[in-house]
Amino acid sequence: MEFRRLCEYYEMLEGTTKRLEMREILVRLLREVSPEEAEKITFLSLGRLYPPYVGIELGMAERLAMRSIRMVTGASESEIEKAMAKLGDLGLVAEQLLSRKKSQTLLFQEPLTVNQVYATLERIARQTGEGAMEDKVRLLTGLLGKAEPKEAKYIVRLITGKMRLGVADMSFIDAAAAYLGDPDLYKEEIERAYNITSNIGLVMRLVKEGGIEAVRSVRIKVGVPVRPMLAERLTSAAEILQKLGGRGLAEYKYDGERMQIHKLDDEIVIFSRRQENITHQFPDVVQRCKTNLKAKEAIVECEAVAVDPDTGSMLPFQELMHRRRKYDIEKAIEMYPVGLFFFDAIYVDGEDLTGRPLLERRKVLEQIVVPDENIGLTVAKMVEDPEDLDLFMRKAVEDGCEGVIVKDVSPKSVYRAGARGWLWIKYKRSYVSKLVDTLDLVVIGAFHGKGKRSGWFGTFLMAAYDKATDTFKSVCKVGTGFKEEDLQRLTEMVKERAVPRKPARVDSVMEPDVWVEPEIVLEIVGDEITLSPIHTCAYGVIEKNSGLAVRFPRFTGRYRTDKRPEDATTVDEIVEMYRSQLKVIAVEEGEGGAP
Ligand code: AMP
Repeated sequence: MEFRRLCEYYEMLEGTTKRLEMREILVRLLREVSPEEAEKITFLSLGRLYPPYVGIELGMAERLAMRSIRMVTGASESEIEKAMAKLGDLGLVAEQLLSRKKSQTLLFQEPLTVNQVYATLERIARQTGEGAMEDKVRLLTGLLGKAEPKEAKYIVRLITGKMRLGVADMSFIDAAAAYLGDPDLYKEEIERAYNITSNIGLVMRLVKEGGIEAVRSVRIKVGVPVRPMLAERLTSAAEILQKLGGRGLAEYKYDGERMQIHKLDDEIVIFSRRQENITHQFPDVVQRCKTNLKAKEAIVECEAVAVDPDTGSMLPFQELMHRRRKYDIEKAIEMYPVGLFFFDAIYVDGEDLTGRPLLERRKVLEQIVVPDENIGLTVAKMVEDPEDLDLFMRKAVEDGCEGVIVKDVSPKSVYRAGARGWLWIKYKRSYVSKLVDTLDLVVIGAFHGKGKRSGWFGTFLMAAYDKATDTFKSVCKVGTGFKEEDLQRLTEMVKERAVPRKPARVDSVMEPDVWVEPEIVLEIVGDEITLSPIHTCAYGVIEKNSGLAVRFPRFTGRYRTDKRPEDATTVDEIVEMYRSQLKVIAVEEGEGGAP
């Protein structure tokens, strides 16, 4: 496929915010490409070259891309800066400057193909070490030299990490199902293939190569991360047990970082909850898994928790962030050792365990995890009685946990990759004393700060994720809880993601000063969930002309970089929180009113 043709599709996608139209455009695009091209165009459309677990990112500083634009167009530095100040998008700057000069030079040039563009971007992304910057600029200059203005716009956006067409992994799954002839019939199977490979490009290639049969033949493989199973939430022990048919396995909910550990002989790879390879941050975990996991091949999941080396007690989540720094890992290992609490086995020695019920998977875990003082299975207890569950919950909190996760133990309690469902239900400490738990919300807009905060963004428009429509719906404006360094950091993060108009996947009637691509997830605590006519979260669900909002929201200080925007608190969860709040109020009023 010629790259200019792909750019025409990109322009069509940018021209609409209607989800169905976008799906139709993607279906038409899929019809035109070969299987290999399907893989490449999928990643390019998402602004990447590979699935996240490969760890090679597109992303060149704007400053460097500007140098290439200067070389190709002959424009001066100040001309580029002026155009940038006016247009706010380096892609548009490249397009404009190139269209001024190109008309005479392009006549005899071969058109660029998708494969050529992809291959060059790949070479740029793979340059590392000394001289890498110069090589990147040289390669980009070569590519832009062959590009038409419109192509240059997208090449520059791709290379600077600003693709943002309003499509996400789910958009491609929907389109693939429609392409195969029935959006409803095939979606689940395509989603399954995606959930066990974490590789949307591969799935699209298979759809083109062998249709639904090829999609069905996908298997779990050690070394390839499986998208994690997630929990729903409820706020009372009785409701939880009722939902689980009377009994469940209650496990401590540790406040750490989820790890999916892959073992193949002596090789250990650790994936984060977002399928990033984080092995290098945890050489101590690698070592321990080599000795304490008794299987030749395994995919197992655990929560890693920072432990106080002096007392052995668990420390809050933030302490693990010391491991994010590239240097000083050795020091961090000593100062912030981690404990590993295993809770699931996905694959062991040739067998895919995802179809087996929870207790069987846990039995396999018991067989392969050799416990010592810093490694073991999660503390767990079978519960049938709400009072028992509450007692266990209190004990979990006393022991430094966030609460418990109660899990289905019936024959249907399979491991459902990539899904949030009722097989796991979280029950958190804050429900016991307060109305509202913390929420993980996505920044979709920002407002300029005033007074002491001028020059920074001081207030942020936050959204919850709506899985049904794959959109982000506004739920509050938050301006408290930020330290000076937070405002500085967030201002930078917002500037990098600011877009000139409302992003396609954002649903909000409130207009911020600046729209922000939905990427930043922050932990927010509020006093309660209230009805609100100005927010779109759950609009019309509880009351006709009203949505739901978080009242008195505050930032807790936690940047949820471990969560993708699609992992944020969902609209359904907020509806659930609102409903259970009403129940709590009803109970309190009932008790208060009794003689
Ligand atoms: P949340 O991030 O609030 O949706 O809660 C789900 C997360 O709790 C999982 O992704 C794990 O990282 C973590 N977790 C802690 N303990 C457990 C456990 N016993 N079973 C499953 N997940 C756990």
